[in-house]
Amino acid sequence: MFDLVEAFHRPSSIREALRLLHAGGRRARIVAGGTDVVVRADPEIRSLVDITRLGLTYIKRSGGAWAIGATTTMAQIEHSAALRALAGGILVEAAKGCGSVQLRNMATLGGNLANASPAADTAAPLLVLDAQVVVAGERSRRTLALADFFLKPGETALGKALLVEILIPAPPRGARTAWSFQKLGRTESDISVVNAAAGLQVDGKGVCKWCRIALGAVAPVPLRARAAEALVTGRKLDGSLVEQAAAEAAREASPITDIRATAEYRREMCRVLVKRALAECAARAGCSL
Ligand SMILES: Cc1cc2nc3c(=O)[nH]c(=O)nc-3n(C[C@H](O)[C@H](O)[C@H](O)COP(=O)(O)OP(=O)(O)OC[C@H]3O[C@@H](n4cnc5c(N)ncnc54)[C@H](O)[C@@H]3O)c2cc1C
Repeated sequence: MFDLVEAFHRPSSIREALRLLHAGGRRARIVAGGTDVVVRADPEIRSLVDITRLGLTYIKRSGGAWAIGATTTMAQIEHSAALRALAGGILVEAAKGCGSVQLRNMATLGGNLANASPAADTAAPLLVLDAQVVVAGERSRRTLALADFFLKPGETALGKALLVEILIPAPPRGARTAWSFQKLGRTESDISVVNAAAGLQVDGKGVCKWCRIALGAVAPVPLRARAAEALVTGRKLDGSLVEQAAAEAAREASPITDIRATAEYRREMCRVLVKRALAECAARAGCSL
């Protein structure tokens, strides 16, 4: 692939990065950690715009929310005490499971989302956290819900813009609130065959006040399992309800068969992972099933 690349740019401002990206047209590509760009080896690429010197590597508080710069690596997320304390550390768990140590030192959060793989491990936890993404274009900046960011495999709402920041609003807190992230890969460092994240809160009687469930690698884009969420909300959490919700989430999935798994296996594992996620949330919320 690199035999065909004519220019490797290392801009030091977002403005300059966007200028270079536009100047290169459809043959220019942003590169952050490079762990997807290099593997994909698109022979169309003639110029690469390295965005790792734009000051977009940070994890910080922004009002009640958390802001994570797009070039923050999986390793930095994995080792962040602040993110470990956020929502049961589900984003940290997802980052920790992304490939090997070497890969996590290079792979960025922005790259994981902008690459638009349905199997991206950070997507499901960020979806249950109602995350937003900040996108910078040549003329303006906009913030959109992560749920609206993914369009289809390999395509996002970015166009020729730069993903600069991921915003996580203060998650619901309070007694008996719990979160879970589940991943099934062929090996521990493999890309997900299926992944799932969940969060919920129960009251003193074990009735679920709210529930969020997100699925990865079982549809063209990572998605929230809204019907399963609705099924659980307002009802007493027990083993039967967890089973029903997991089956509902599996029905909401539309998996494909590929080199990693068949569609049937994915749908079944989706049910299993959602069941595990809800059961883990229930246990963490002090609710016996
Ligand atoms: C061996 C191996 C194992 C892997 N295991 C996992 C795994 O377990 N889980 C998982 O989720 N992923 C896994 N991956 C995929 C990959 O490592 C991640 O998706 C990673 O987070 C990508 O980040 P990056 O910075 O390397 O992206 P890059 O390769 O630099 O970029 C990826 C894509 O996003 C675009 N892009 C990057 N940053 C931005 C930005 N800020 N704004 C706009 N566009 C941008 C690039 O142009 C490119 O199209 C694995 C990859 C390999 C090679």
